[in-house]
Amino acid sequence: MAEPQCFDIAIIGAGIAGSALAAALSGNGLSIALVEAAPLVVTDLPEGIALDSFDPRVSALTPRSAGLLQSLGAWEKIAAYRHCPYRHMTVWDAEGTGQIEFDCAEVDAPALGHIVENRSIVSALATRVLAATDITLFSPARLESCEQRESEPVRVQLESGEALAADLLVAADGALSRVREMIGFDTREWDYGHRAIVATVEVEHSHQHTAWQRFLPSGPLALLPLPSQEQRYYCSIVWSMQDELVDNVLALEDDPFCSELEMAIEGRLGRILAASPRFAFPLRQRHAVDYVKPGIALVADAAHTIHPLAGQGINLGLQDVAVLAEEVLAGHARGINPGQLALLSRYQRRRKGENLLMMAAMDGFKRLFEHQALPLRWLRNVGMRGMNQLPLVKQQLMRHAMGLG
Ligand SMILES: Cc1cc2nc3c(=O)[nH]c(=O)nc-3n(C[C@H](O)[C@H](O)[C@H](O)COP(=O)(O)OP(=O)(O)OC[C@H]3O[C@@H](n4cnc5c(N)ncnc54)[C@H](O)[C@@H]3O)c2cc1C
Repeated sequence: MAEPQCFDIAIIGAGIAGSALAAALSGNGLSIALVEAAPLVVTDLPEGIALDSFDPRVSALTPRSAGLLQSLGAWEKIAAYRHCPYRHMTVWDAEGTGQIEFDCAEVDAPALGHIVENRSIVSALATRVLAATDITLFSPARLESCEQRESEPVRVQLESGEALAADLLVAADGALSRVREMIGFDTREWDYGHRAIVATVEVEHSHQHTAWQRFLPSGPLALLPLPSQEQRYYCSIVWSMQDELVDNVLALEDDPFCSELEMAIEGRLGRILAASPRFAFPLRQRHAVDYVKPGIALVADAAHTIHPLAGQGINLGLQDVAVLAEEVLAGHARGINPGQLALLSRYQRRRKGENLLMMAAMDGFKRLFEHQALPLRWLRNVGMRGMNQLPLVKQQLMRHAMGLG
């Protein structure tokens, strides 16, 4: 086996979470390795606005996440590229008259959040990472194995034959984390039996900078506003539905797909004029029982995946990143090894509760809206209408979802 290159911290995965963590730790006298299977490059993002030019993967970033990206020097680039603030949110039940409206004016904010293409976030973070002299990038490079022995740095073997040793190994390698699996972290997980179809669509009427969400018995459907021009309006869709329905919808040609979608969203944005190619992602709720072991920490999707109905996944992940970086840097200032279990346990304590709460809330919502029983339908419609009349409760909900509460 090759002699390992030694680092204070090795991060596996340079998606949004891993790149953000490397950027947050950089510049503080720590040596950092960042390992990414795909080539990490600053891509030339498409200019102009056209249906097929949008990344089908977008994130609804909260003001808190935007603040974190700003502190990492990445937000300026993200904001300079096309993105769309959403100021209003309309949520309604397909089975009744219940509807709830959220508006940024109710919480004195300029927007509830921003819809940003994922590749724009990754590219802005890559610019930051590639400019840092204390981050050694292994990309494209894939983790082959990792091993943790008591009181020793964690050993990481890459498929290229290179070996690394680090006081702290961070798994930011996503929902199917190999680090989590190899080190033997237990998870609690359940399959929703759902997949989410994502695509970009052109709609007839202005989206009014509103995130539209309709709860259907088959699952939630969201239309998220994208930058638009010359009275051509675009939205990103996240359409979750039972597995057995997905293949039929994916098999539809453009015109019948647009008609199905128009019906599913009750024509609120007029006709669906065109759709980009569709992709489907399996939805599984997963939560690691522990986020840490001596010398190892899980962050973001490696620690938890959540139903995308409230667009909170990477927002929670970025908060993991912020807290882990804060604990590691505070420890480093006092000469504490970043892999020390007491330090890592503080990170776990500060994040697990909030993540669990959000996951439970999303799961509850999804189940509540799946039920067809008449009393439950009546109750949730009355509940939605009632809540819509309670400004203080709504403000609390909004502040929490925006990461401000
Ligand atoms: C349909 C859908 C819609 C969503 N919408 C939203 C939204 O609106 N708002 C929101 O906050 N969240 C949303 N999410 C969730 C969000 O996309 C995820 O939380 C986020 O992408 C996770 O980022 P990550 O960096 O943890 O993982 P990933 O993005 O999965 O990145 C992991 C990285 O690790 C690398 N990697 C993996 N294995 C290895 C290996 N062995 N060696 C080296 N590198 C490796 C991968 O190449 C990848 O770059 C949505 C999710 C879905 C499915």
